[in-house]
Amino acid sequence: MAPVPAAVAPQAQGAPEPPPGPVLRVHPVGQGDSIGSILGTAGVPRADVAALVAEAARLHDLSRIKMGREVQLTFDPSGSTLLALRYPLDPERDLVVEREGQGFAARQEVTPFEDEVVGISGVVEGTLWDSARSAGLPADMVSTLAGIFDWQIDFNTEVRPGDSFRLLAARRTVQGVGSRIVGLAAAEFVNAGRVHRALRFDDAEGGTAWYTPSGERMARAFLKSPLAYSHVGSGFNLKRFHPILKSTRPHWGQDYGAPTGAPVRAVASGTVQFVGTRGGFGKHVRLVHSDRFGSSYSHLSRYAPGLKAGRRISQGTVVGYVGSTGLSTGPHLHFEFYDRGRPVDYAKVEVPRGEAIEGARRPAFEGLRDQVLPRLLSVDGTAQVAAFFAHEGGAGRHGGFVR
Ligand SMILES: [Zn+2]
Repeated sequence: MAPVPAAVAPQAQGAPEPPPGPVLRVHPVGQGDSIGSILGTAGVPRADVAALVAEAARLHDLSRIKMGREVQLTFDPSGSTLLALRYPLDPERDLVVEREGQGFAARQEVTPFEDEVVGISGVVEGTLWDSARSAGLPADMVSTLAGIFDWQIDFNTEVRPGDSFRLLAARRTVQGVGSRIVGLAAAEFVNAGRVHRALRFDDAEGGTAWYTPSGERMARAFLKSPLAYSHVGSGFNLKRFHPILKSTRPHWGQDYGAPTGAPVRAVASGTVQFVGTRGGFGKHVRLVHSDRFGSSYSHLSRYAPGLKAGRRISQGTVVGYVGSTGLSTGPHLHFEFYDRGRPVDYAKVEVPRGEAIEGARRPAFEGLRDQVLPRLLSVDGTAQVAAFFAHEGGAGRHGGFVR
């Protein structure tokens, strides 16, 4: 892409010559651009390019500049010597590399920003993805929302039109850049008439977790589904289905139609018991969670790298990827859950309640809840974006939005 010269202030007729100042040139990163091509086009000598990139590497690899961002170059008044380079690392931080002596010095510069709490609400029409996006929730926050309720709701199979959500979100405004949603503080999801609410609570030790309003952890021993919420394009929805095996032999497990390659995760922490091919199950992983419970994952296309029998794994660890190996008519995950070795209906397994907040953390949690819950409940359920609570300087620290 051609360099875009910075606008030079027009000089009024007859005005005295302003003292010559540095010249700023802004180069938007275009398709196929590299830091070398941008600096080369700007006339920066190769030796300077090499020295600058090497110094910047302490903080950021400039060979990976992103399309659409802007590289700002400051030259001396003659326009021939590069004095500084500025490149945005993210909306809140810039990389600055300045000439210093014979070389360059790199540093990070934090851009001032302000957080405010906003209410976001929506009703699911079609898919959760489309509804949440049109309510103003960015893509990464849709996943965050699904992750909060990972133990209560299977967002791939259980969400239905008419379900609704209300959220308190942190909206960050960066001076001169714009606004974006950077985190969630509270969430309500009404699924098939059942109301689920969660509040984010950061403890004094820097830990963050989600709790019900009564102070129970949302996280439980077993995930609701071995597949994380995902969407592939608009309108895609994972559905449970029953392939041919169901009619030919007793079928204890659950089948999840999912695209080949979708990550499959351990529903609970435990130990890997078996990794390998096993008859009609194809590529198969079996886990032991306790002396009572176990689970298995079949028809995988491949295993997670390094997965071996005997290895301890934590809940949510990816054990493999959806496929169609073994006796399978198409890509799907066959999931079984065992109670003392016998396959059981996972949906009917009684899951112990989440751990409760106790001791010194309890009053702090209750204080936060009494502040946040009424706000969540005041988010207008019919509006797309509602109930602004603008300009609360302390929200980041007290509401726990800063990640
Ligand atoms: Zn099956």
